Amino acid sequence: HAKHSGDRRFLTFSESMAHRSVEMMNLENDLRHALNRDELELHYQPKVAHDGRTLVGAEALIRWRHPRLGLVGPGDFIPLAEESGLIIPIGRWTLATACQQFMEWRAQGIAPPSVSVNVSVRQFNDSALLETVREVLDRTGVPAGCLDLEITESVMTGDVERAVATLGALKAMGVTLSIDDFGTGYSSLNYLKTFPIDTLKIDQTFVRDVSRDSKDAAIIATIVSLARNLGFKVVAEGVESLEQMEFLRDNECSLFQGYWVSRPLPVADFCIYLRENHTVGPAEPI
Ligand code: C2E
Ligand code: MG
Ligand code: MG
Ligand code: MG
Repeated sequence: HAKHSGDRRFLTFSESMAHRSVEMMNLENDLRHALNRDELELHYQPKVAHDGRTLVGAEALIRWRHPRLGLVGPGDFIPLAEESGLIIPIGRWTLATACQQFMEWRAQGIAPPSVSVNVSVRQFNDSALLETVREVLDRTGVPAGCLDLEITESVMTGDVERAVATLGALKAMGVTLSIDDFGTGYSSLNYLKTFPIDTLKIDQTFVRDVSRDSKDAAIIATIVSLARNLGFKVVAEGVESLEQMEFLRDNECSLFQGYWVSRPLPVADFCIYLRENHTVGPAEPI
């Protein structure tokens, strides 16, 4: 056994694993209190039309202002929130906060046409999701058509019939549905036919090398025409350059999101963006 062989690599490995899991336990414990301690915040990133200025929506992206670690991105705590189940109260907070924010923007006359909220798999499968969405819409007064929920293809890896029923119930409430990171997950064409969705969001990995990689370019062109033929809108994610923007425009992808337009911004900065940098509509909400 490695334990008795004096293999130092083994010991180092096991020590670092122990250290890691202690760190993770601390983080999970911290996350448990993050909501009560008001450490979570939403940043917002614009979704714009082909002119790069006409705002069609805003996506809420969560951040954790950790007292010791500083600003922690969702990639570093959403998986932990999913595993621990904390995603349920956190998801409810996110939905409520984004909707309240939307109504504040409305009151100030600067609201984007819609606000998008990410919903992860465990949230999507939670039996209280429909009730939560209904309750938040009622309480905040957000018109259902102004709320967009972003889900990933992975919701289809579980109980497909149940997933389709949940999507149908959300649609019946009037909210719109986007498939996030499209093309990276379980992309059965069959479910696209069955799904009552409104928008495909082309994953940023295809957009990244679009001007250098002819296969990425072909994939994007194909997703755009697939979306058009099925009657979905299509948003390109992660647009960082004019070159990418022009490729997308040439391929009739008409909605964009990415650093080229704006990074996700804290509320105060996003309000400045809302007041200064764009025109709203005529595009329909996403
Ligand atoms: P996503 O929904 O696909 O969001 C897009 C991610 O790409 C965001 O990272 C955004 O900041 C980043 N991004 C936007 N434009 C560009 C660009 O031009 N270049 C590059 N390189 N990146 C860009 P972020 O904020 O770190 O979020 C990562 C993921 O975490 C999100 O991916 C989403 O799946 C998840 N997430 C974020 N907020 C929430 C939330 O409130 N609830 C849940 N359940 N998941 C969330
Ligand atoms: Mg998203
Ligand atoms: Mg995405
Ligand atoms: Mg993503």
